Amino acid sequence: MSDANLHNPQTKYDHDEFPKQYQEPPGLQKEMKPVPDCGETSYKGAGKLKGRKALVTGGDSGIGRAAAIAYAREGADVAINYLPEEQPDAEEVKALIEKEGRKAVLLPGDLSDEAFCGELAEKAYQELGGLDTLALVAGKQQAVDDISDLATEQIYQTFEVNVFSLYWLVKAALPYLPKGASIITTTSVEGYNPSPMLLDYAATKHAIIGFTVGLGKQLANKGIRVNSVAPGPIWTPLQISGGQPGENIPKFGKETPAVPLNRAGQPAELAGIYVFLASEESSYVTSQIYSVSGGIPTA
Ligand code: NAD
Ligand code: MG
Repeated sequence: MSDANLHNPQTKYDHDEFPKQYQEPPGLQKEMKPVPDCGETSYKGAGKLKGRKALVTGGDSGIGRAAAIAYAREGADVAINYLPEEQPDAEEVKALIEKEGRKAVLLPGDLSDEAFCGELAEKAYQELGGLDTLALVAGKQQAVDDISDLATEQIYQTFEVNVFSLYWLVKAALPYLPKGASIITTTSVEGYNPSPMLLDYAATKHAIIGFTVGLGKQLANKGIRVNSVAPGPIWTPLQISGGQPGENIPKFGKETPAVPLNRAGQPAELAGIYVFLASEESSYVTSQIYSVSGGIPTA
């Protein structure tokens, strides 16, 4: 029998249906059924980010948590940002980072506040003793069926969190970033093929693609690379706290849009790409978008 680590990608995280569930946004991952897999028991590091200092937004849960755990296991000290009500999830991530013998810095606060974004970059730099990796993963998604019901306040908030905070954080962090630093944003398959109920969210994800490609060109002469990750449907608190209409949860990842791998992804399946884009392995990669989408096309 082979000891190769091989799995059928369609059945790797197989389940019939997700239980119907709802939490007020932003939601707590530890209360989800099933709890998402962020690589807590599976991610193995290989020293790819030894000595690095990373800030991960949305690092308490979902995709950001998977990146934070992987960064620590690859040898980085990690600061995470999240909303104050997510403290219980953040404490778990802190313990996981410290278990690797790495420094964990918890920096809660609201990214829709420009002044806070400035403080966040500065605190991450001060408390980590340097800053060379920005994994900008935080995001807001609230499904609304009809544009007539899409409140102006929600449009502002979605753009502030998903797009404006990227400008504010990069502006504030830039003075600290050395040559070789990496900035990673998080777009979505929604940035290419918007769902009708995600008009504000999908527009922000399209904007992130433009921001990333242009910023990569602008910062190349400073020796800083900028890339983005485009996830498909991933099992995270974002989805069960209004990101999807409740009736879509049981078959999330199995219905529209058609997913060739016929299931939702788990955050752990995104860890590798965030490590690659932060590490020296991607030293010739900038202004690019990498999809981890279960096969949903992004071109
Ligand atoms: P998640 O709920 O685990 O993470 C989103 C995080 O955003 C939250 O943990 C929260 O800390 C942060 N956040 C939200 N509003 C904030 C605010 N005002 N200030 C500070 N932080 C705030 O869900 P996730 O799915 O892992 O989301 C991570 C990223 O992945 C998001 O950018 C999302 O758009 C993107 N994405 C997710 C999916 C998916 O199917 N889950 C698909 C494509 C893209
Ligand atoms: Mg969270």
